[in-house]
Amino acid sequence: MTEKIKAIALLSGGLDSTLAVKIISNMGIEVQGINFYTGFCVTEHRRKIRRNKDKNKIIQNEALRAGADLGIKVELIDISEDYYKTVLFEPKYGYGSAMNPCVDCRIYMFQKAKEYMEEVGAQFVFTGEVLGQRPKSQHMRELLLIARESGLEGLLLRPLSAKLLPPTIPEIKGWVDRNKLYDIQGRSRQVQMQLATQFGIEEYPQPSGGCCFLTDQNYARKLRDLITYKGKERIIMDDFILAKVGRHFRLSEDLKVIVGRDEAENKFLANFCKKGDHWFFETLDYKGPLTVTDGEVLPEDIELIAGITAGHSDGKTAKTVRVQYRRNSTEGIVEVRPIIGQELEEFRI
Ligand code: SF4
Repeated sequence: MTEKIKAIALLSGGLDSTLAVKIISNMGIEVQGINFYTGFCVTEHRRKIRRNKDKNKIIQNEALRAGADLGIKVELIDISEDYYKTVLFEPKYGYGSAMNPCVDCRIYMFQKAKEYMEEVGAQFVFTGEVLGQRPKSQHMRELLLIARESGLEGLLLRPLSAKLLPPTIPEIKGWVDRNKLYDIQGRSRQVQMQLATQFGIEEYPQPSGGCCFLTDQNYARKLRDLITYKGKERIIMDDFILAKVGRHFRLSEDLKVIVGRDEAENKFLANFCKKGDHWFFETLDYKGPLTVTDGEVLPEDIELIAGITAGHSDGKTAKTVRVQYRRNSTEGIVEVRPIIGQELEEFRI
C-alpha cells in the first residue's frame, strides 16, 4: 500500500505560494494551507477598518480566496498576542530597514508551522519562497538558517527554488519528484507568470510591497516612540493597533494625540477608543478630523490639542476655530488658533 503524504503550505494567496501549492498537489500530495495573522498585516487592517480606494470593492482575505480557488482547506492562525512578545522587541537576527525582524519572524512562523504539521499528521511543510527575492530573509544563508532554527531542517521545501537548494527529505524519500521542482531566483516574476499561465491560474493579487506594517518607516517611528515613552513591558496590543491609524503627535512624555486621516479612520477611532480612557476633539464650524488622546490630559493641554485638531480641518487658515471636546459626561468648547506648519511639525512623531 502506498503511503498517503500530506503537506502543509504557508499560503498568503500571492502568486508564489499559489504556484507552490499547484506544484505539490499536482504530485498527488494532499495539501493543507495555513496562514498566520501576526497583527501587523496591512491588508487585514484595511479590511478591518473598511478602508479601500474603491469603495464598492470588498477587500477579501487572499489566503482564503486562494484556498477556495485551489480547492484546499486553509486555516487562519492568530499568533498576534505571542508574536510581538516573542519576536518583535529583541530579534536575535536584527531588523531590516524599518522594525521588521524578518529572519526571526520566519523562524517563529515555521516553528508554529512545525507544531501544526505534527498536530495534523502531515509529513512536511512548504512555501512559495524564492531564493534572492527578498533582501532580508531569502538569501541562501537565511533560507537554510531559518529551516535549521525552526526545527524544520530537511522538512521545509521551497518548490520554486528547490533545485538551487540542498535536497530535502521529501525529495530524498521520493514523496516529491525533484525533477518537477524549479530553480527560480531573484526578484523578476517572469517565470512565475509563465507558470501561472501554464497552470491556468488567473486570479492572484499583484505584489504590492508594503504588506507588513513592520517594514514601514512611519510605523516604525511610532513604535520607537512607544518603546521610549511607554516602555516595552507596558506596550499592549491596542498600542500596535492605534499606531496603524492616523497622524500621531507627542505633546509630553505622558501624552500623545492621534488625528484621523479620513472618514474611515475617524470612524475606527470613535469605535476603538470608546472605553472612556480617551478624550475626543472635533471642530464645530468646519469639516475636520476626529482627534483622540492617548495618555494623561491636563487642563492646560486642551487648547493645544484643539489647535492641532483645527490645524487639520478645513478651517486651518481661519483666524480661530471652535473645537468641541468630550470625555464621558465631561465636555466643553474652546475657540483656538489652528496650529499648522513648523509649529505642528515640532510635535509630529
Ligand atoms: S515582512 Fe518580515 S516581519 Fe513582516 S511578516 Fe514578512 S517576514 Fe515577518
